[in-house]
Amino acid sequence: MGMVERARAAVLVEPRRIEIEEIAVPETGADDGILKVEATGVCGSDIPYYTGEIQGGMGRMPIILGHEIVGRVDRIGNEAAEKWNLREGDRIIVEEHIPCGHCDLCYGGLHKMCIKRRYGSMSTDVSPTLWGGYADAIYLDPNAVIYKADPKVPAELVTLFIPISNGIYWVQQVAGAGIGSTVVIIGPGQHGIGCCIAAREAGARNIVLVGLSNDRERLDLGLQFGATHALESDKENVVEIVRELTGGRMADCVIDVTPGASEPLAMALDLAKVRGTIVQAGFKHFKPLTNFLSDKMFMKELTFKGVWGRSTESVPIALRLIESGKLPLEKLCTHKFDVQDTGRALEAANRENGEHSMHVSVIPGIS
Ligand SMILES: [Zn+2]
Ligand SMILES: [Zn+2]
Repeated sequence: MGMVERARAAVLVEPRRIEIEEIAVPETGADDGILKVEATGVCGSDIPYYTGEIQGGMGRMPIILGHEIVGRVDRIGNEAAEKWNLREGDRIIVEEHIPCGHCDLCYGGLHKMCIKRRYGSMSTDVSPTLWGGYADAIYLDPNAVIYKADPKVPAELVTLFIPISNGIYWVQQVAGAGIGSTVVIIGPGQHGIGCCIAAREAGARNIVLVGLSNDRERLDLGLQFGATHALESDKENVVEIVRELTGGRMADCVIDVTPGASEPLAMALDLAKVRGTIVQAGFKHFKPLTNFLSDKMFMKELTFKGVWGRSTESVPIALRLIESGKLPLEKLCTHKFDVQDTGRALEAANRENGEHSMHVSVIPGIS
């Protein structure tokens, strides 16, 4: 029998209005369990749901957001313990997708694209309510995808498995960066940093992190995580600098991690080399692209790839990197809030407020 009986949860009831509710932790059976949340990272994709820019469908209110979850197994049934190879007290991370296991995507090995049910995007109307990380506990669904994590690492550092595993997938596995590559990364937030880490691990020669002049602090931080150059696109001619760096060949791959903005993808067309790869890794909030001259793709035989989240293979690699202690990850953890201050956490992560946040996490019980 676990310890948690009631969980505080930050329920988004309407745009920008969060109510802290006490929810009875549900009964569990042989094949499921309860996770006591240690930390949940705030994802940029939470913001448009929080502000109401995107409504309905996935993210329908009332909802407990939060899908970058690390915690301790509080209660677990016999079958679940055997299936997941877990015991009460073990630390795990929980993936956001809860794959059904039986659709075409799941049969094809694309479990992460099976998105009918996901943590942090299902309404509290759906039983048993505790589907979001901004709470003291979440329900461990029988189909949850979990990975064990080292309990010695501070929990908020473990939630960085998301930007780091995403970076590994985008830069190495999708864009194919390797020894000697020139990688341009647009967007100096936590995902940009994750891409810098991945590019350095891959052996890339030039790792160019691009932001705006008001991102200077974050750009400088990127230099500590592998970036060889950190450029301000509103002040510097990024295309010309990359041309010089590469002797005119341009970048092997360009990774755009910026949310909302379409200009970076237009610039990527000029930054990529002939037969180079552009990866759209930033969520554009369903806005159409402007100034995107697709003929440049045509004439340079570019490859344009979309990516959503990470690959299964990239997650353990990211966890081992975090556990190695070789990265100064604590420098990325700029903001921490208790569950009751989840609204403040989301406001802090909202770049439109001009906050200089990098990684924001909600940590139950932190004062
Ligand atoms: Zn996310
Ligand atoms: Zn499925």
